[in-house]
Amino acid sequence: MKAIFNYLNPINHLGDKKYSFLFPFLITVGTAFLLEIYINVIVKDPNAVGIYAITFFFVLIIYSSFRDGIKGGITASIVTVIYYLYIIYSRHYTGPRLTSGLETTFVFLLIYGLLAFIIGWLKQTIDSLIERESNEKRRLQIILEQLPVGAIITDEKGVVVMANKKLDSILATKFPLGFQIGTKTLFDSRANNKKVIPSKGPLAQIISGEKKSVEGEYTILRSDEKKAYLVVRASAIFNKDNKFMAAVAIINDITHRKEIELRKDDFVNMASHELKTPITSMKLYLQSLEKRITNTKDSKSKVILNHIHEQTNRLQHLVNDLLDVSRLQTGKLSFNKEVFRLDVLIQETIELMDGSHSNHSIIFQTKSPVEIKADKFRIYQVITNLLNNAIKYSKKHTEILINLSTKKNKVIITITDFGIGIAEDQQTKIFDRMYQVVDDKTNTFPGFGMGLYIAKEIITRHKGIISVTSELGKGSTFSIELPVKT
Ligand code: ADP
Repeated sequence: MKAIFNYLNPINHLGDKKYSFLFPFLITVGTAFLLEIYINVIVKDPNAVGIYAITFFFVLIIYSSFRDGIKGGITASIVTVIYYLYIIYSRHYTGPRLTSGLETTFVFLLIYGLLAFIIGWLKQTIDSLIERESNEKRRLQIILEQLPVGAIITDEKGVVVMANKKLDSILATKFPLGFQIGTKTLFDSRANNKKVIPSKGPLAQIISGEKKSVEGEYTILRSDEKKAYLVVRASAIFNKDNKFMAAVAIINDITHRKEIELRKDDFVNMASHELKTPITSMKLYLQSLEKRITNTKDSKSKVILNHIHEQTNRLQHLVNDLLDVSRLQTGKLSFNKEVFRLDVLIQETIELMDGSHSNHSIIFQTKSPVEIKADKFRIYQVITNLLNNAIKYSKKHTEILINLSTKKNKVIITITDFGIGIAEDQQTKIFDRMYQVVDDKTNTFPGFGMGLYIAKEIITRHKGIISVTSELGKGSTFSIELPVKT
C-alpha cells in the first residue's frame, strides 16, 4: 500500500529525472474510460458531468506535469483532447454545435499544453536543482573521504549531516550521524580526568553562537581503551546574508607526535636529573680546589679554574632550566608561596648580579616598598632571567633600568635595556618553548630559548602577565604584572 502511495505521490519523484510517458498515458486513458462508463451506464446524461470532467482532466494534467515533467503533462493533454474529440464524434455533433465543440477543444488544447509546459518545466528545473545539490553533497563527501584528518559537518540546527571514515578510524568506532550536537557525550575523556560537558564541546560552542571558531587539544579514551590526543578545530559557516548555515570540525590525530614528545620529555627529565648530581659534586670539588690554590702564586691555574667555574655554573643553569621545562610539561612544577618584600628581593637580586656582570650598570629607579604573596625563589628566578637577557642582548657599558610600581592590587616590574631589541613579529613568539630569534643581521647568542618560556609559565601560574615592548636596535622593556596576593 505504502509502495503504491509512494509511486503515485509526485513529491517522491522530485529530483528523479526519469520522466514516464506510459504512466500519464495510462492514467488519462483509464480516467476517460471510467468516465465513459459513468456517463453511459450510471448517469445517462452527458451534460450533467461536463464541467466536472473538464475540471478533473485539468487536475490530471497538472498532476501528470508535476510527476513526469513536460513529457507527462503533454501526454495527458493530448489524451484528454483526443477524448474530447471522441465525445464530439461519438455524440454525432453537427452544425454550429460541431463548430463550437471543435473550437472549445482547440482552446483547451492550447490551455492544457501551456499548463503542461509551465508546470513540467518548473518540475524539471526543481529536479535539476536537487540533482545539483546532491552532486555537490557527493563531491563534498568524496573530498571529506580523501582528507588525512577527521571531519564533521552539521546543518544550521547543529545536527550532524556528514562525517568521514578517517574520523571513525581516529575514534576506533563508527561516528553516528543525524544527532544533535551538544546532546550527548561523544568521547570518553576519562583520560583527562575531567568531566565532559556535551554543551561545552568545540562544535557545541559554535552552534550556540558562543564562538565563531574554536581550537583546542583534547585527550580521549578510544573505544579500544587506547589514549588518543586530538587537535580539534571547529568553525562556523555563514551564507552570503551572513546567516549561520553550518558548523564544521576538523579533527587531527596527534597521538603519534604526542607520544614521541612525551618520550622526549621523559628522557630530558631523566637526563637532567642524572646530570644534576655530578654537576653539584663537580662544584664542590672545584671549591675545594680553589681554596687549595688561593694561597699559591699559580695565577694561570687560578684563571683556568675561574673559567671552569663559570662554565660549570652555565651547565648547572642549563640543567636547571631543562628540569623546569620538563616539570612544566608534566605539570609537576609546584609553588611554595610566602609573603615577602618584592622591592627587597629585587635589590638583593641586583646586588648578586652586580658581582658577576661588571660591564653593565643595573639601576633600580623607583622602588615602591611592597609586599606580595608568591613563590619567592621562582620570582627571583624570573627577574634574574630577564636581567641576564638584558645584559646578554645589549652592548657593554649600557644601562639596564628596573622600575617597581603598584597599581590597585597589582605590582608592576619593568626591566628596560638599550640593546639589540626584538622585531615586532617575534615579540609574542619569544615566550614559546625553545624559541630563539634567528636573524641574519644579528649575531647568534648562546642559549636554548627556555628562559622566557619558564618565566612566562611562572608568571601566568601566579595569575600574572608578562609582556614585552621593543624596537629593533633601540632596546626592549619587559613588564611583569603580578597580583599582590596570588
Ligand atoms: P635564550 O636562552 O635564547 O636567551 P630566552 O627564552 O631567554 O632564551 O629568550 C628567547 C629569545 O628572545 C632569545 O633567543 C632572544 O632572541 C630574545 N630575547 C630575550 N630577551 C631579549 C632582550 N632583552 N633583548 C633582545 N632579545 C631578547
